[in-house]
Amino acid sequence: MKPFRYCPRCQKPLNVVEERLLDCSCGFHFYINPAPCSLAVLTNAHKEILFVVRGRAPRKGYLDLPGGFVEYQESAEQGIRRELTEEIGVVPNALQYFGSYPDRYLYNGIRYHVLSSAFSGILSAREAAQVRAADDISGYEWHPRIKLPMSRFAFPSMKKIFEDFLSTRG
Ligand SMILES: [Zn+2]
Repeated sequence: MKPFRYCPRCQKPLNVVEERLLDCSCGFHFYINPAPCSLAVLTNAHKEILFVVRGRAPRKGYLDLPGGFVEYQESAEQGIRRELTEEIGVVPNALQYFGSYPDRYLYNGIRYHVLSSAFSGILSAREAAQVRAADDISGYEWHPRIKLPMSRFAFPSMKKIFEDFLSTRG
């Protein structure tokens, strides 16, 4: 389903010009651009990777990386620090950007396009012990990098994220 079917300016039905562009006879155009997200691949001293369990739709119960939508007037870096604080209660000192990943996010019957900025970081033993599940996640799990639980991944882009992460930080 398209995110909008009627013109927000004049309320007439929007025309689909191409997959990413809707327009209206009044001159209004709407580009279906991706929404920015930030996420983090966090490792502990044993080189295990932190996954969070999604507590809400979409993909409730599946494994995700901590992170979420960047809010307006926030940078990707500020977004990931806020999301980590909200979801797991811990933010590592250094977070390093390593790539951006397009994906789709089906929410309330509407397919959104997202573009996630991925960061990596290391949690000290003390920080790792402080991790707790909060906000929109219902739990967390550590998994060794050689045995990632791919069948439980919430989103297809996670496979590519780990390919890149492991090729540069293996
Ligand atoms: Zn219009």
